[in-house]
Amino acid sequence: MYIPYGRQWIDEEDIKGVVDVLRSDYVTTGPAVVEFERKVADYVGAKYAVAVSNGTAALHIACLAAGIGEGDEVITTPVTFAASANCALYCGAKPVFVDIDPDTYNIDPRKIEDKITTSTKAIIAVHFTGQPCQMDEIHAIGKKYNLLVIEDAAHGLGADYKGKKVGSMSDMTTFSFHPVKHITTGEGGMVLTNNKDLYEKLILYRGHGITREEDLMTENQGGWYYQQLALGYNYRITDIQCALGISQMNKLDDFVTRRRKIAKRYTESLKDIEGLKLPKQETGCNNSWHLYVIQILNKDRKEVFDALRRKNIGVNVHYIPVYKHPYYQNNGYAHVHCENAEKYYERAISIPMYPALTDEEQDYVIRSIKEVLS
Ligand SMILES: *Cc1c(COP(=O)(O)O)cnc(C)c1O
Repeated sequence: MYIPYGRQWIDEEDIKGVVDVLRSDYVTTGPAVVEFERKVADYVGAKYAVAVSNGTAALHIACLAAGIGEGDEVITTPVTFAASANCALYCGAKPVFVDIDPDTYNIDPRKIEDKITTSTKAIIAVHFTGQPCQMDEIHAIGKKYNLLVIEDAAHGLGADYKGKKVGSMSDMTTFSFHPVKHITTGEGGMVLTNNKDLYEKLILYRGHGITREEDLMTENQGGWYYQQLALGYNYRITDIQCALGISQMNKLDDFVTRRRKIAKRYTESLKDIEGLKLPKQETGCNNSWHLYVIQILNKDRKEVFDALRRKNIGVNVHYIPVYKHPYYQNNGYAHVHCENAEKYYERAISIPMYPALTDEEQDYVIRSIKEVLS
């Protein structure tokens, strides 16, 4: 028996949805894509949605739509998956890392203003583990300095911030549908926005920068005609993937409820163990628990990690601070130091968290952690 840190939940209903599309007229750019977009947009309360091939592509076209380019700076957190910063590099811009809050592990809004320059164009806020960032504070800074705010909500589908679902609060919000995330399409992603102008740009960048919209073209030579207006990409997603996404959306609330239950049980069972720091829930936020991270305070993290792996528990570490990777170190980030992020990284272990984790499996994980730490 091996218990991973995260995995998908796919049932017969999902399989039927995918098979139905395989038998239909459209396997890509068809009605399932539009239906999936509508379903996620309605769920989070956003006006527009653009589904793409993965969460990284979603971040990339969000940056392009935001007009981020050569010479611009983009503020983000070091405790995230590399894609949250790489998307700025794809556009020729420079990611600027702001340290995390040691309690929420999210970007610390109190430290953002120090890093703003005349080149700063946007803030990419990452809801790490599914715990919403302090968006009111971040929006206030965005407004004061005229910056776009993009939420990388790859961990945050289903999370609430002050009674509102993550996905409709900022200029743009991106999701990922990789199998470890809240719902899966195999690979997939989406950008949500309430802004029509940004929406039209996102559509353009998803498909080669090509349009057939009369209003957007400089002329129309006939029914065959289309124009490339910008340098876009092929970031399309298939109807096959979206059929899976539609079916997964029907289960999202159950998935999130189950994740919250697992989190509550971890917290209750582990809270009295000395030398262990557990996740803290911010007031006004309802975490959707993509990850459950424990901090090992008075033992060697690697020893604890290895001991749990030996017990067939697929613990993991999220994340190595992005600027610590050799690519960043070799490209101008060798001097960067985010104290809280580095301290957090040295102590962090992600323990199994996914809806299909059974109570028995969770009991085994809890027992094993107690054993290893005693
Ligand atoms: C998963 C993830 C992404 C990238 O999503 P993909 O679908 O794998 O491209 C981006 N940011 C964060 C925080 C993620 O966890």
